[in-house]
Amino acid sequence: MNPISLLREIIAQGGPVTSDFYGDNASFALLSRVGLLREVGVVSSVVCCDCDAPHSAQVVFAHGKHGYLCPDLGFVALAHSSIKEFGPDISALIERLAEVFEVRQRKSSSIYGETWRIGALRSNVGSVMLYFRPNLQNENDARELRSALEREVRADWRLVLTSEGKLPIAGLVVAQLDDIVEIDAETGDLRSIADAETLAGVPRRVTGGRPSEHGHLLKPLIEDRIKNGKSTTAVGAEARAVRAAFQAAYPDKPIPSDPTIKRYVRAALGGS
Ligand SMILES: [Zn+2]
Repeated sequence: MNPISLLREIIAQGGPVTSDFYGDNASFALLSRVGLLREVGVVSSVVCCDCDAPHSAQVVFAHGKHGYLCPDLGFVALAHSSIKEFGPDISALIERLAEVFEVRQRKSSSIYGETWRIGALRSNVGSVMLYFRPNLQNENDARELRSALEREVRADWRLVLTSEGKLPIAGLVVAQLDDIVEIDAETGDLRSIADAETLAGVPRRVTGGRPSEHGHLLKPLIEDRIKNGKSTTAVGAEARAVRAAFQAAYPDKPIPSDPTIKRYVRAALGGS
């Protein structure tokens, strides 16, 4: 799993996570190393499995150590590393996103509630604004997003990145974080994997069969099919299925050409 997908999952959970749970997950370690996850405290309770009857116990700080009180064993010390809690550093994430897309007008704090302005793309067709909102899963999230955007200057196109949820909202496009960026597993650098302008809905001037036009839309469709065990290794049959999936998912978009779809299918299946 790309580290960005793990970060997206953690943001979507909406609360802190423990280092204990993620154990030796390399993506988790990387995210904390580059500051996209930060230590936010320690867990408030643990389950004691050291005595006869497992019970939950509150974590306390005593004798210079974290631990808990067990009726049988008394004070049981806990290793700090096992009870640390981590949460996403949204402000750091916005800063990285702003760098990746070389935006202007970034705002370093949220504009309202949990809605952040990443900034304006340097576009020569009109104003394209990028925003971020941790979750967009229910009507409350949508309402808060709309209130936030009412405080903003008008833009020709608005693209809202989020960790989870794709509620349709008039006047803007919502994309999931890992639709648009990935994190280099070695360096921890963020890089874009899709054209933000295209994602935002800015029409492209047609310049002949440009190959990458639908790549950002085709790729996840193909990967989903592989992940869900729906894919077949016969390129022709798989391309037809992907074509149908594309048509169902994006009824208002022109369908990519068959050679284009086949090329993406071959790439995803590990061919040339
Ligand atoms: Zn106990």
